[in-house]
Amino acid sequence: MAHTLLDIAPRPSHTGTTMSTFVDEFISRVEAKNPAQPEFIQAVQEVVESIEPVLAKNTKYRDAKILDRLVEPERVITFRVVWTDDSGEIHVNRGYRVQASSTLGPYKGGLRFHPTVTLGVLKFLAFEQIFKNALTGLPIGGGKGGSDFDPKGRSNDEVMRFCQSFMNELQRHIGPDTDVPAGDIGVGGREIGYLFGHYKRLRNEFSGVLTGKGVNWGGSLIRTEATGYGVVCFAAEMLQANGKSIEGKTCLVSGSGNVALHAVEELNTLGAKPVTLSDSDGFIYDPAGINQEKLDWIKKLKLEQRGRISEYAATFNGATFHKTSGNHDHNPLWKQKADCAFPCATQNELNEKDAKALVENNCQLVCEGANMPCTADGAHYLIQNKVLFGPGKAANAGGVAVSGLEMAQNSMRLSWTREDVQDRLKMIMKRIFNQCADAASEYGFGNNYAAGANIASFTKVANGMIDQGHV
Ligand code: GLU
Repeated sequence: MAHTLLDIAPRPSHTGTTMSTFVDEFISRVEAKNPAQPEFIQAVQEVVESIEPVLAKNTKYRDAKILDRLVEPERVITFRVVWTDDSGEIHVNRGYRVQASSTLGPYKGGLRFHPTVTLGVLKFLAFEQIFKNALTGLPIGGGKGGSDFDPKGRSNDEVMRFCQSFMNELQRHIGPDTDVPAGDIGVGGREIGYLFGHYKRLRNEFSGVLTGKGVNWGGSLIRTEATGYGVVCFAAEMLQANGKSIEGKTCLVSGSGNVALHAVEELNTLGAKPVTLSDSDGFIYDPAGINQEKLDWIKKLKLEQRGRISEYAATFNGATFHKTSGNHDHNPLWKQKADCAFPCATQNELNEKDAKALVENNCQLVCEGANMPCTADGAHYLIQNKVLFGPGKAANAGGVAVSGLEMAQNSMRLSWTREDVQDRLKMIMKRIFNQCADAASEYGFGNNYAAGANIASFTKVANGMIDQGHV
């Protein structure tokens, strides 16, 4: 049945925004088919709401059932991962790979190892990845995978045994022209090394099957830094387009993984002042700013010693540690006074209450380093209150973009220089920002870059799907 779009009076949605009958009905169907997957529904709803005018204008997307196809991953693989800990005890985890879309290229997206990993979480991430990867302009489709395995507190040997067991099954489903996984939360250089080593051993082939590899065995320079650097580049573009500058801005950053730490690094490079970082125990606030010297200390602590962020406050004068674990209502990190905020930890870490605190403190910009760190209500409140909002699928695309560049270097059996990769990353981030800004203004969304990101990427993927027929 054809639905009338736009001409239907909007009515309130579950998230407090307004939603037309078309969106409402579509989301209800997706919910019925995907029960108990709230993050997936949230990600779908966010995209569907903003592409409604595109569907209203182009009947071909509706006739070809593009949306119905996009919410159904091309393939979902789940498997048992059995491994033995250092004391000889056997553990059973669940492994997944969600191959969401191969319209624009081989499935591409990270692996997440974290106890909160469920099929719904990975489906949301894989869905986001389709659009994010489209924005990079590189030939990569969308996917995501991982496991509910918790690497925290595990020895290197235990992590290696888990990775090898995980790869025993995953290797059947991936390949440099099929599906190219990378890192995400809980999967960094160490895990990619173990996964790659085992793939090579099982298949007897050295190929670009994973990205985020070590730089002397097929990895790309700048891949580690790329997501964090790219996020700040996107924020700087947003500010510039609105007559402002990142220089001198006080910035809140959450998280203390790869994304957060390299966002802090780039903020320092561009003359801004990052004052917070966090982990699952709490956050540190340093009014003097987390400069490069302090950051180098944190990098050692977090990436090498796998220590806790609270140790920062015990080391640097004037800095304080605030415990937050167990607090699910709101995150007091977002109550600190600052000009800009960079949520770089995980999904739904900034809700409406947090957004209100930021607006009260005159925060001018929120740029998402993590995937969907703002709740629907949170993001909506920020946009309504004229805070410049950088959606994750655009702002954090620098990581997967350099993964795409790693794939290109692997195919050519070449390694580009640091400057070469950095210049390309900058160019890609600027292009992503321009696509978001242009699409938003074409459809009358002003400087709502979240709507722009959805429209620009959806159009690209949808056109490819139409070209490739009913698959
Ligand atoms: N996990 C990262 C992301 O969310 C990187 C994915 C990749 O490099 O394939 O985009």
